[in-house]
Amino acid sequence: DQFGIRESLERLGIKSENLGTSTGINWVASDEKHIESVSPVDGAVIGNVQLTSEEAYEKVITTAQIAFEKWRMVPAPQRGEIVREIGNALREVKDDLGKLVSYEMGKSYQEGLGEVQEMIDICDFAVGLSRQLYGLSMHSERPGHRMYEQWHPLGIVGIISAFNFPVAVWSWNTALAWVCGDVTVWKPSEKAPLSGIACQKIVGEIFRKHGMPEGISSLIVGDYRVGELLSHDSRIPLVSATGSTRMGKAVGKAVGERLGRSLLELGGNNAIIITEHADLEIAIRGALFGAVGTAGQRCTSTRRLIIHESIFDEVKNRLANAYGKLTIGNPLDENNHVGPLIDQDAVKIYEAALQKVKEEGGKVVVEGGVLTGEGYESGCYVKPAIFEAENHFEIVQHETFAPILYLIKYKTIAEAIAIQNGVPQGLSSAIMTTNMREAEAFLSAEGSDCGIANVNIGTSGAEIGGAFGGEKETGGGRESGSDAWKAYMRRQTNTINYSTALPLAQGIKFDI
Ligand code: NAD
Repeated sequence: DQFGIRESLERLGIKSENLGTSTGINWVASDEKHIESVSPVDGAVIGNVQLTSEEAYEKVITTAQIAFEKWRMVPAPQRGEIVREIGNALREVKDDLGKLVSYEMGKSYQEGLGEVQEMIDICDFAVGLSRQLYGLSMHSERPGHRMYEQWHPLGIVGIISAFNFPVAVWSWNTALAWVCGDVTVWKPSEKAPLSGIACQKIVGEIFRKHGMPEGISSLIVGDYRVGELLSHDSRIPLVSATGSTRMGKAVGKAVGERLGRSLLELGGNNAIIITEHADLEIAIRGALFGAVGTAGQRCTSTRRLIIHESIFDEVKNRLANAYGKLTIGNPLDENNHVGPLIDQDAVKIYEAALQKVKEEGGKVVVEGGVLTGEGYESGCYVKPAIFEAENHFEIVQHETFAPILYLIKYKTIAEAIAIQNGVPQGLSSAIMTTNMREAEAFLSAEGSDCGIANVNIGTSGAEIGGAFGGEKETGGGRESGSDAWKAYMRRQTNTINYSTALPLAQGIKFDI
């Protein structure tokens, strides 16, 4: 254990056998079924987690309902104060939690730390927000009347999260939901349940210290079947779900059928346009991190490069050269650039995609493949690959959650933007150019159709201050900064008559 994983697990309270259901401070014994958390880093079983039974789920929801009645009446700035302490607690465990995330999910230790930093940042943001849950006031058309709007908490927010950001996505939702006065029930990915347990322990302790009731922050564990309990449950007014488009369609349908609200953060198919006016130094570095960072397992990973024909070969050669220098291996070893995929199923999907792009006529630029031998015993390590491809290829239209990059040639900027937009997903996009006209065209109403559009920055690595999310099959949800908090509250319009008459709106007369 040269990376001190065992010590970190111990400090985080992770054991080899763990209860998976928590109503806040307390843990609820469930049935005997377990899931194993297996590290893609070395294939070791890190621990077992008890699945949430329907009975345990009922206990969680009824506890959350009671907690909401109290929590919604705590003044928002006081709720913010508790979130401030959660941020401080996260600062203290940053190294340990970052390591657990890295070991359980397989991203580099630096990115694990970055993920915890993102949690700290959103807590800080939420503390400020707790004094800024502003509604507008309007001028009434009627004399002696006042009209304004206020924002009230919704109730229980269900959170379903993906494996690749096992903790940050939860905090984006919870930090805002809590200051908004909601209570939360989280189902982390079944591929990273221990990271969820670690977070729950940290926040449970802080709610306890403040004498808050059970049920403000709850945890349930399991696969899609436990997720379905949330999506079908009409006691849950908002389900925020992050994951594949396939999952989002199922959750959106289930929640929509009961006319609940869903906030969907789904797959991306993100492109960088590299124009002939690009600063190639920045362009290559941005593309490289975007394509191979987190082994291509970010929703914002760069999957397509749309390159002007005049610089196509130069970009291709420089990228191939850079790929040649990548070191692939244990993500806790800071000398490695690329870690493993999440599991062997993901490796199979990666291999099938390599096969498919070749069948469709893609030309190999950098050959992929599964790595074997010392250090690669988990069977989850793969080589980042590059292909020359065309945008209409079925495989290019599809998000493969692995480090495969497609190079596509263009002639005019209008064509480049059309290619960028010509996929079903709409999460992140970027243009590399020093030309103002190109940059502004890309950002205009006829430019990128994505939720995120960057200039001279790659597609991945958003800051928490902006609203995060995407259009089309990415699901339309927005989380994190800006006014994303409004999704976690209900708006109420209030009109108050302080006159001695009762005038009707629109001047309608109704006299008897
Ligand atoms: P996944 O869809 O397999 O699982 C995500 C979560 O949904 C898990 O917790 C899973 O148990 C749950 N789930 C699956 N089917 C469900 C159903 N029918 N009902 C209820 N819950 C269900 O995704 P994954 O492999 O964990 O994550 C990778 C995907 O997530 C990629 O497509 C990636 O782009 C996407 N993602 C998107 C964002 C974003 O913000 N847009 C962020 C991270 C990941």
